[in-house]
Amino acid sequence: MDSLGEFDFINRLIKAQAAEGQSFFQQKNILGIGDDAALLPALDHGAQMLVATDMLVEGRHFYPDVDPASLGHKVLAVNLSDLAAMGGQPLAFTLAAGLRAIDRPWLEAFLDGMLSLARLHQCALVGGDTVRVPKTSAQVFSVTVMGSAPKGHVLRRSAAAVGDDIWVSGHLGDPSFALAHGHAQAKLNWPTPRLSLGQRLLGLAHAAIDISDGLQSELMHLLHASSSERADGPRLDATLDWSGLPLGPALQEALSLGQISETDARCFAASGGDEYELCFTAPESARQEIENMGRSLGCPLTRIGQIISAQALISRLHWKDQAGQPLDPETRLRLEHAGFDHFKS
Ligand code: ADP
Ligand code: MG
Repeated sequence: MDSLGEFDFINRLIKAQAAEGQSFFQQKNILGIGDDAALLPALDHGAQMLVATDMLVEGRHFYPDVDPASLGHKVLAVNLSDLAAMGGQPLAFTLAAGLRAIDRPWLEAFLDGMLSLARLHQCALVGGDTVRVPKTSAQVFSVTVMGSAPKGHVLRRSAAAVGDDIWVSGHLGDPSFALAHGHAQAKLNWPTPRLSLGQRLLGLAHAAIDISDGLQSELMHLLHASSSERADGPRLDATLDWSGLPLGPALQEALSLGQISETDARCFAASGGDEYELCFTAPESARQEIENMGRSLGCPLTRIGQIISAQALISRLHWKDQAGQPLDPETRLRLEHAGFDHFKS
C-alpha cells in the first residue's frame, strides 16, 4: 500500500491550496497552511465572527468502509450547517485528523470531497493538525469553521416568541431511515448545509437551529434556550402538525410501496438525525416572504407548527393530528423515547 506520513499529508494539503489559486487567499487576505498559525483578516467594523466545531468519530458517525469523498464532504458540511443555523457566511476552516494510516487514493478522495464543498462556499482550509492514532483506535476528524455575520444580526436559538410559526427546510427522515436499514443514501452521506437560506433569514426569522440530532430534540433545545432567555416571560411549548411533516422521497416511496407504516415514516421524520436542515421560527407576518424565499432558493420550506406558552413548568412538544387532536398514546410514547444523546444509550 502506498502509505503516507504526516508531512506527506501536510505537503499534499499545501499543494491543494496552491491549486485553489493564490488569488483566493490574497483576495481574502489569508495566510493559510505552512506556518505555526494561520492569519485571518480582521473583520469589517460592522461584522462579527462566528466559530463552530464538530467532529466525526469512526464507528459512531461513519463506518470504516465509508466513501472517503463523502467523509471529507460531511466533516465540513456539518460545520457549515452550524454556521448556516446562525445566518453566517463562511470564511475559513481548520481540520484536525487522527488517522491510523494514510494511503494516497483515500487522501485524494477525501480532499476532493472536502475541498469541493469548501470551494463552493468560498471557505479556505487554513490549518489543522494531523496525528496517528493507535491501530485499534477509532479515526477522528474535527473541523473548526469560522465565518462572519453582520453585527447584531445572527439567528439565535433563544429568540423564539409566542405565536411564531415553526418552519423546517427540505425533507425529513431519509438519512435515519437509510441508517436503520444499513444502506447508503445521498442525503446521509452528502448533506447540504443551508447557508443561503440561513443568511436570507437574517432579519426575517426569530430563532433557528440546525437539525443534526433530530427535529424533536433540536426543537426542545430551541424551546429551552428561548424560555430561559426571558426569566419574566412565559416558558415556551410547541404544537406540531404530525401529518404536515415533509417526508423525504425515500420514505415516501417506502410508504407508497407498503414497506413501512405511516407512523414509522413520521417517527423517522420527527426524530431521525443527520438531516442538516434548518428549523426556524418566524412571526406570522413573515409567511409570504418566507414562502417566496423558498421558491427562489429552490428549497422547500414547510410550516410545521407554532410556538405557544407552556402549559406546564417544563417545555413540551404537542403533536397534533389532522383534526388538531393529540396523537394516540402509543405513537406519543414512541416519540418520547426517540432522539439521540451521545452519553445515553
Ligand atoms: P506545528 O508543529 O506548528 O503544530 P504541524 O507540523 O502540525 O505544525 O503543521 C504544519 C502546518 O500544517 C501548519 O500550518 C498546520 O496548520 C498545517 N496542518 C497540519 N495538519 C493539518 C490538517 N489536518 N489540515 C490542515 N492543515 C494542517
Ligand atoms: Mg501540529
